[in-house]
Amino acid sequence: MDFSYTAEDEAFRDELIEWLDTHLEKFLAEWADTGEDDLAGAGSGGVMQAMERRRAWQRTLNGGRWAAIGWPEEWGGRDATVIQNVIYSETMARYRTPGIFNANGLWQIGPMIIRWGTEAQKRRWVPNILDAEDHWCQGFSEPEAGSDLANLRTVAVADGDDYVLNGQKTWTSSAHIARWGLFLVRTDPTAIGRGVKHEGITALIVDLEVDGIEIRPIRDLAGEEMFCDVLFSDARVPVAYRLGEEGEGWSVAMGTLGNERVGTAGLAIGMRSDLDAMVNVARSVNPAALDDPILRDRIARAHTDIEYTRLLNYRALSKILRNEKNWPEVPLAKLQWSHLAQTLAELAVDLLGPAAMVAKGGEGAVDGGAWNRLYLFQRYTSIGAGTTEVQKNIVADKAIKLPRR
Ligand SMILES: Cc1cc2nc3c(=O)[nH]c(=O)nc-3n(C[C@H](O)[C@H](O)[C@H](O)COP(=O)(O)OP(=O)(O)OC[C@H]3O[C@@H](n4cnc5c(N)ncnc54)[C@H](O)[C@@H]3O)c2cc1C
Repeated sequence: MDFSYTAEDEAFRDELIEWLDTHLEKFLAEWADTGEDDLAGAGSGGVMQAMERRRAWQRTLNGGRWAAIGWPEEWGGRDATVIQNVIYSETMARYRTPGIFNANGLWQIGPMIIRWGTEAQKRRWVPNILDAEDHWCQGFSEPEAGSDLANLRTVAVADGDDYVLNGQKTWTSSAHIARWGLFLVRTDPTAIGRGVKHEGITALIVDLEVDGIEIRPIRDLAGEEMFCDVLFSDARVPVAYRLGEEGEGWSVAMGTLGNERVGTAGLAIGMRSDLDAMVNVARSVNPAALDDPILRDRIARAHTDIEYTRLLNYRALSKILRNEKNWPEVPLAKLQWSHLAQTLAELAVDLLGPAAMVAKGGEGAVDGGAWNRLYLFQRYTSIGAGTTEVQKNIVADKAIKLPRR
């Protein structure tokens, strides 16, 4: 692995650091009263307040052309290389920059509209996503289609200039605050019966404010409502909102999911900061824990695991740079990331003592309940972006090539 930077990469990094040094502190001072934690606040008021802060940060980034560096220059990006994406993710993690308004839009849906959209579609929606004008969600999963996504059954029937949609999406993150969504629907219902379920799927951009769409937030185990059921009852979507051709939805979706992997390079740095933070907090709220030999061992192991995760990511990236297939590093990195995220959250509550389990608003909550939230929330990491079991299947099939009868 050779990760030495070219002069261009060095200049890219210097420009980013200089920009952050000029803008980040000023932004944080202006938005000091609305912390990130408000996203965890009860009710939509807290969420919306935090979203306004995120919108402002995304706009600040966009002002410096730092919101979507992987996008083409013509659409407000920087055509960043893989290495520049690594530099960007690691630097942003090191500076602990605020969350952006619409990760789904910037990392997945925007690139897909740029890749598959008509000129008119691009002109209409790409600037909207980039400048955080509206929030976007991604409606793929259904009650009978999660890991087996191609089993989706929300049906879209062409009727004049529209498609008419009926069915149910579920786990659609932030649908209740989104104006637009990229949805996968079935335009050929016979495909499942014919044993070709990846065919007959179409990608549609949906205006979530039209009649016939009901959005029901789902309360998660942390008590938050961040994802939703989306129910379609004769909802009409113009054919002009179709992304790609009819029946091409699977290819559009695979590109979208592929983009989820971009930006993971900074995760190890973020985890390292979390580990340092929990040890520091333990020093004041539960110092005896730091003398416990078992907990000390777990801290040391977490350090090693974080370093391993960082190197595993680099190995996957170096294969990408050499145009080699990045098996099995990508599924292994996903497995390692979810394992580590949950291990660290468990370590935090053990280090910080019983008060760490008190939720936001509860008496004696540590750091406003942030560690309790982390503990509950990290359960999602073994489900989202491909479940643990499915990643293991991929390693078994494609990397180890275990025999199948
Ligand atoms: C926080 C969060 C946010 C999400 N946001 C979105 C979103 O914005 N948009 C969206 O479309 N979806 C979203 N999802 C849904 C997510 O994509 C699905 O939860 C995921 O694909 C798993 O599908 P499922 O929940 O239907 O579980 P299932 O696929 O039904 O799996 C249930 C269990 O069976 C196991 N299993 C399934 N198939 C196999 C197999 N072949 N071999 C072995 N074990 C198997 C799984 O590992 C799991 O343990 C989100 C999920 C979470 C947790």
